[in-house]
Amino acid sequence: MIIDKSERLKQLPPYLFQEIDRLKAELIAKGVDVINLGVGDPDLPTPSHIITELERAARDPVNHQYASYSGMDDFKKSVAGWYKRRFNIELDARSEVLTLIGSKEGIAHLPLAFINPGDLSLVPSPAYPVYHITTMFAGGESYFMPLKSENHFLPDLKAIPSGIAHRAKLIYINYPNNPTGATAEREFFRQVIDFAREYKILVCHDAAYTEMAFDGYQPMSFLELPGAKEVGIEFHSLSKTYNMTGWRLGFAVGNSEALNGLGQIKSNIDSGVFNAIQYAGITALEADQSCITEMQKVYQERRDILIRGLRKIGLNPQTPRATFYVWCPTPPGYKSKDFTTLLLRQTGIVTTPGSGFGAAGEGYIRMALTVNKERIGEAVDRMLKISL
Ligand SMILES: *Cc1c(COP(=O)(O)O)cnc(C)c1O
Repeated sequence: MIIDKSERLKQLPPYLFQEIDRLKAELIAKGVDVINLGVGDPDLPTPSHIITELERAARDPVNHQYASYSGMDDFKKSVAGWYKRRFNIELDARSEVLTLIGSKEGIAHLPLAFINPGDLSLVPSPAYPVYHITTMFAGGESYFMPLKSENHFLPDLKAIPSGIAHRAKLIYINYPNNPTGATAEREFFRQVIDFAREYKILVCHDAAYTEMAFDGYQPMSFLELPGAKEVGIEFHSLSKTYNMTGWRLGFAVGNSEALNGLGQIKSNIDSGVFNAIQYAGITALEADQSCITEMQKVYQERRDILIRGLRKIGLNPQTPRATFYVWCPTPPGYKSKDFTTLLLRQTGIVTTPGSGFGAAGEGYIRMALTVNKERIGEAVDRMLKISL
């Protein structure tokens, strides 16, 4: 029998990292000591007080049954409390917070709630691929907003044709940004709100990296702006903040109608997050937050070693104020993919070609600060020996 896949799967773009994956496997098989700066997954462990709470909650039989679809009330209250303490924003825990199985899950299901065939999503390029792909899964199309260095990697809303803006249902923004490490301030968020109001577009702010910031910088929430809640929602995750990527716990906050729509999709697909994990999430959000400060120190130190090294070899990346990514321009004459291949072949360092995040990522590579500082130092030493 021929198993015929759906059009949506046939439409998936080719997997760009195939060649790199193959080369990496080949080098490892040869015994090369590969340094992986490719994956955006914290190498640090989940703080132990969070694990202790999971152990307790996992042993309580009450937690072994189906969880509530929209999340445990206590977890949602805890999220509201964290928003109040961290951003001074009031949220109604019942209607303005939705628990997610990691924020990717919520981001991925969102278009099913708001996109009809032929509708548009406004999607940054480069970006986390989920925005574009799941718009396509819902039958919509993406209009790509290039993030350019000269605009500090913020989309230029004025450059979006009004015919496009009128067809758009969703706009995705993500600050602090993956992959560019860029940050956004009040004035940009204000422009987004005005734009969303004018064209009746739902704003989805992916705020996964607000706690991963350096030099005392505190990224803001989109919801801090007046009127934000009328036009948008914000996605958060415990993944990067508390080194909990494997646990799958995130949440969306903001506009209650929009969250209700997303919740309707979810209640027909999943059955909520394991309550024991939500209890551990409460501990993460409510306990002493010094684990975040520690995490920031670790990445800041790694960042500084890598940036210094890259400048020594003549590359000139900006120093990111947030995220654990360094977005590095390729040397003159090198395409993203060629430079990542050269780095892998000549130094055994895995990086990600910027073009893998969208056409406007061409000319850059992304390096993730997810190995310890000795390994970052070793990566720098190896790069100093390459001939460009
Ligand atoms: C890591 C990341 C997330 C978080 O994903 P989870 O599903 O919560 O683990 C969301 N958005 C971006 C841009 C990310 O890089």
